Amino acid sequence: MKSPIIGIDLGTTNSCGAVSDENGNVTLIPYRGGQFTVPSIFAIDDKGNDLVGYEAQRQWQLNPKNTVFGAKRLLGVNFESEIVREMIKRVGYEIKRGDADDITIVVGGKDLRLTDISSRILGKIREVASSYLGEDIKRAVVTVPAYYNDRQRQGVYEAGELVGLEIVRIINEPTAAALAYGARKNTNESVAVYDLGGGTFDLSVISIRDRVFEVRSTGGNIFLGGIDFDNALIQYILSDFNTQHGIDLATDPIAMQRIRDMAERVKVDLSARHEVPLSVPFITMAGGGKPLDLNMIVRRVDLEALTAHLVDKTFDTCARVIDEAGLKPSEIDQVLLVGGQTRMPLIQNRIADFFGKVPSKSVHPDEAVAIGAALYAWSLDDRSDLRFQLLDVLPMAISIEKADATLHRLFGRNCSVPNQCQVTFTTHRDNQKDLVMRIVQGDAATVHDNTLLGEFTFADLRPGGAGSVRVEVVFTVSAEGILSLTAKDLDTGTQMSHTVKIES
Ligand code: AMP
Repeated sequence: MKSPIIGIDLGTTNSCGAVSDENGNVTLIPYRGGQFTVPSIFAIDDKGNDLVGYEAQRQWQLNPKNTVFGAKRLLGVNFESEIVREMIKRVGYEIKRGDADDITIVVGGKDLRLTDISSRILGKIREVASSYLGEDIKRAVVTVPAYYNDRQRQGVYEAGELVGLEIVRIINEPTAAALAYGARKNTNESVAVYDLGGGTFDLSVISIRDRVFEVRSTGGNIFLGGIDFDNALIQYILSDFNTQHGIDLATDPIAMQRIRDMAERVKVDLSARHEVPLSVPFITMAGGGKPLDLNMIVRRVDLEALTAHLVDKTFDTCARVIDEAGLKPSEIDQVLLVGGQTRMPLIQNRIADFFGKVPSKSVHPDEAVAIGAALYAWSLDDRSDLRFQLLDVLPMAISIEKADATLHRLFGRNCSVPNQCQVTFTTHRDNQKDLVMRIVQGDAATVHDNTLLGEFTFADLRPGGAGSVRVEVVFTVSAEGILSLTAKDLDTGTQMSHTVKIES
């Protein structure tokens, strides 16, 4: 009998695996010590050993240069993109330009690609799952953020291949959360998945009709997450210390690291308590060599005042995305929470105000995505009685660059997938040999501000005068948001093969 297909939530901060039994009951795969999540961290220690998960996390402060976290945010992005500039400011490891304008990370003196790093994390989940289930796991359904573009999705497939894990299907995280909520209900409702994790925010509107999960619209902000809440609190702590002692701790990296850790802990505790003491002993030296401690009490209302503008931003997105779905907030039947930062009471209260209903308690913000992936995985098994239809949308437009460097839109944002369109190209030179087209993904108006998916070349065109050879190119986006192209000579019907190159 084939081994089960597991579900994997490949998260930015933590990853989690889940599996369904033969009755469709899902269990999260426990890691050593009973934890259900594995930190998405990879490191190489000074002896050259690979460390993944808790082992990597434990030694992070001592070995920041060789400890990689947040890799998911860099997978499949161009070196020139804003996210890379942001990450370089925030991380201790070296990020450099790779061969194909992608990214290379230097860990333990080795140049690694992002797919190598993601593959180690997938490999770890697979290893944990195999030992828990007592059989060699070979196949998985893996979730990705709804905003992931074609390149990023391809990157996840490659990462799986590198560790011999067949990724049978990629599904979007919000869709997985909706599956966790509605898989066993014969229901007809619209749900909003409000996902605020460590680094990103997104909202998706999904309609569930019996077993059909249709994404109506999706959108978000890749620069808004829990880390921004931490930063707001850190600024407050620094300014309070400066007022009391006239010392700016921002210039002291070791003090900053300690404050960062403490600020996050205090932020998390403030979700359960109204006041939390914050204490970091011997944070610095006063003039005369006297050690100074950092001591203050942080109240929940202080944190709320400091971060209200961040919460407001999420509701700007909510208003836009719900409008794009053709709905009003009051027409959303359930709000599902995903991501650790949604535990903040202010967020839950604001959701209740905005949607006119409290968020659903029936899915767990840290577990829903892995559970949904495992349910989907089980639905692919012949023995399963579950069958789902997932109808998704493209998170960003896909366009081709025209000769004048402007864009011709092939698929608009929020268009349903799978989808197909065709464009007829005519040669513009005598005996033109090939047809080259650059394809980008993004909603920006210019080529430069979008992500290059690839340069496709159809070679060996039939010889003929300018304008006499017509090539019809069919662009297909799969249900998973992955683009493929075919072309044929319209007059002879000959199919043409292509090569793809990704570069700047
Ligand atoms: P995720 O990416 O979903 O694992 O979310 C991680 C983010 O959630 C981090 O910024 C955490 O600080 C934040 N977080 C986790 N638990 C809580 C909590 N109880 N209250 C507020 N934020 C939290």
